[in-house]
Amino acid sequence: MSKIQNDGSEALLSSGVKLNEPIDTLCLCTYDESCKFAVSKFKRRPMGAEDVVIQMKYCGICHSDVHSAASQLMKRAKYPITPGHELAGIAIAVGNKVTRVKVGDQIGVGCLVDSCLDCEKCAEGNEHKCKKGSTGTYGGLDKHGRAQTYPKNTPIMGGYTSVHVIHERFAVIIPPSYDLKFAGPVMCAGITMYDPLKVQGVTKGTNVGIVGLGGLGEMGLKLANVMGANVFAISRSPGKKDYAMRCGAHEFIVSTNKDDMKKHEGKLDLILNTVPFYHDYTFYKQLLTRNGKQCILGLHAGIGAGMFINKVSCCKSRLMASGIGGMKNTQEVIDICAKHEIYPDIKVIPVWEVNRVYEMLDSGNKTGLRYVLDLEGTLNEEAVEKVKNEKAPKMLPARTHLNLMGVIKELCWVLCCCKHV
Ligand code: NAP
Ligand code: ZN
Repeated sequence: MSKIQNDGSEALLSSGVKLNEPIDTLCLCTYDESCKFAVSKFKRRPMGAEDVVIQMKYCGICHSDVHSAASQLMKRAKYPITPGHELAGIAIAVGNKVTRVKVGDQIGVGCLVDSCLDCEKCAEGNEHKCKKGSTGTYGGLDKHGRAQTYPKNTPIMGGYTSVHVIHERFAVIIPPSYDLKFAGPVMCAGITMYDPLKVQGVTKGTNVGIVGLGGLGEMGLKLANVMGANVFAISRSPGKKDYAMRCGAHEFIVSTNKDDMKKHEGKLDLILNTVPFYHDYTFYKQLLTRNGKQCILGLHAGIGAGMFINKVSCCKSRLMASGIGGMKNTQEVIDICAKHEIYPDIKVIPVWEVNRVYEMLDSGNKTGLRYVLDLEGTLNEEAVEKVKNEKAPKMLPARTHLNLMGVIKELCWVLCCCKHV
């Protein structure tokens, strides 16, 4: 059975975690697509020999959490759902076969908690492209054996939680100098932007456009800047100009302003489009050079079409899509953020504000900030009533069209009009 390396760990004692027993955890979850959150008690699996137990400190709220909790994606979610794939906390216990993580390390968890670890994609650190399918941090079922739940075969609970258990392969080590409250958003927003920038070979002088200045977009501006690119922020919100320039943009394009669009026609080598709702993304093509590419990142029918086109064109087409990144690049991006002191623009909030944040993200994230739950400070017994007394968020009808019919329609449209590809 598993042992801990340091069974005198104060954090472990104060967490109430008992080794070899299922672990009590508080979770912020929703029981249906209304996204009215509640604080409920659940258990996580006992720590295994290759597992790390994390005392959670913070978790970022990604727009994907909103899409998932509100069942705006391919399938209806399995409820109750505890979203969260931007986790940051401290290792309070490690199994006796763990080699990379020590008690006391700052640990992050992103969008993945397991994959087959056998195929060539896993071997190269691209676990997100696992040939047998990777396991997401919440909502799915354990498939390869390293993401077991307690009881078994219940949906995996994500990061809006007090204690988490993870196989060490999926634990990201956050450099000690990096303040944990900023680390969560790097685990999803950071890697989601870094991976395509790296894969597309962005370097000094590449002209990169980032569409949509929210949680992903602002990390895109900062990372593209540090990679040496000429960075163009593309937003429908003129009021975000100062914010964009502070985040590392060199130019600011208001997408609703025809003159602005015209001025930058044909300039960009790469566009990363983070808009979270279905829209005419071909509109941005006018900004691209002849060989320039647009990569869809927002979860709407366009990403489904883009993924299909990636496959048939071996990622050579001008319209493409990208999803998260593997463990190697996730570790790399947090190390880059620590080295260059890149910090996401965040607002730390108590857990009882979660409903309001969902409402605000669902209506278009006008502030552009990443909202981060203060789990250590506010996810406790007292929060149960406070969260319960909050009004349900006012959610708009789903606008992703990310369902089978939506994707088929989108593909037909894109492929019939080859000019879009
Ligand atoms: P977010 O914080 O809500 O920001 C989205 C931004 O998009 C907004 O700030 C806004 O920026 C722009 N926007 C919003 N509504 C719009 C509309 N109707 N038309 C045009 N622009 C609009 O979202 P996020 O967390 O950055 O996530 C963005 C998308 O990426 C979501 O769909 C999320 O699920 C997805 N995502 C994908 C991956 C992946 O692996 N592919 C990973 C994580 C997240 P402006 O005001 O500047 O226009
Ligand atoms: Zn995310």
